[in-house]
Amino acid sequence: MFSERQLFLRHVAQTSESPLMLEIERAEGLYLFDKNGKRYMDLIAGISVSILGHRHPEVQKAIQNQLEKYWHTLVYGEFILSPQVQLATLLSKHLPTTLNAVYFTNSGTEAIEGAMKLAKRVTGRKHFIAAYDAYHGSTQGAMSLNSSAYFTKAYKPLLPNIDWIRYNNFDDLKKITKKTAAVVIEIVQAEAGIITPKENYLKAIRERCNETDTLLILDEVQSGMGRTGKLWAFCKHQIVPDILVLAKGLGGGMPIGAFIADKSLMDTFTINPVLGHITTFGGHPVSCAAALATLQTILSSDLIEQVHHKEKLFLDNLKNPRIKEVRSAGLWLAVELENFEVVQKVIQNCLENGLLTDWFLFNDKSLRIAPPLTINDAEILQACAIICQALSINAD
Ligand code: PMP
Repeated sequence: MFSERQLFLRHVAQTSESPLMLEIERAEGLYLFDKNGKRYMDLIAGISVSILGHRHPEVQKAIQNQLEKYWHTLVYGEFILSPQVQLATLLSKHLPTTLNAVYFTNSGTEAIEGAMKLAKRVTGRKHFIAAYDAYHGSTQGAMSLNSSAYFTKAYKPLLPNIDWIRYNNFDDLKKITKKTAAVVIEIVQAEAGIITPKENYLKAIRERCNETDTLLILDEVQSGMGRTGKLWAFCKHQIVPDILVLAKGLGGGMPIGAFIADKSLMDTFTINPVLGHITTFGGHPVSCAAALATLQTILSSDLIEQVHHKEKLFLDNLKNPRIKEVRSAGLWLAVELENFEVVQKVIQNCLENGLLTDWFLFNDKSLRIAPPLTINDAEILQACAIICQALSINAD
């Protein structure tokens, strides 16, 4: 008889040579429980997904209600499905008026693909600009925006006509020209290790896009749904994108993504050719019901108002001589240490002490903290104590 650990290694596709191998039995709120009943504080929320914690009762209720009605039907663009209609309407109500038409997808990368295709259709142009050290997804279009030779070289050729700008560098904005279909950028660079924009940087991008009739695609896959202390991170910067991309926290733990634009832009998908972007499962009714309940719960709570208080609690209690720097953007922090070896030791030690953290794709010197917004003060203090203890143990 093989154990599930052995079967996992044999039959489930692996993406690294050293998987974490936690055997998850159940999850609730901030916590994951393994097969032996050991409890782990989930400080990364499935990479910014479980924005209300695991199995939030309101989200679970909405899923259960939808399961009683219908699951898959024909989900895109033909039938009027209440969970989609309600979700698209509520999203539009909480966005600037030009972001009023929602295309639902299964994931973030698929939403980026759709947004790039839409930009090509609307502008008739083929060139894209992205920022160095940005991650927008793993499919070939989204991966083309990835500046890292290490991650992309095995998959060439990818899309041509992509160029990169240094995040926060105003001079590089000259690279945006009348040939550029769209700039794809994050408001806070997530996988670079929480890099926040300089004052007026995003405004300068918006202005350059306006000068060159280039579309601005903002990727809020990680920063959306309240994580930075605003429902959408772009609201802090007095700019409005032409296309907004969401995923991860949107579904509150269920798979869903979206790209959102003005209806006049989105309608280009309907003609010449018809079916300009299609998906079998995107906007699945159960995922939409979960996302609707997630958004309603966030909006009717004070979770967003509490973000900065909770951020400060982390900042005040993450004190240790081994910490080089803590960067933060709401309930989203990067704790920079000496090097990857220390980060790995600390992650391992935290795991032993019942806390799950991680590093970042383009910054392996930093620990990732992106808990559910529902984490409470006592839990934050406990999390900081576990991390600081791990830092002290690994002092030599
Ligand atoms: N954009 C950003 C900023 C992301 O962090 C990610 C995923 N880490 C994606 C896009 C792609 O999302 P997905 O994994 O759902 O395809």
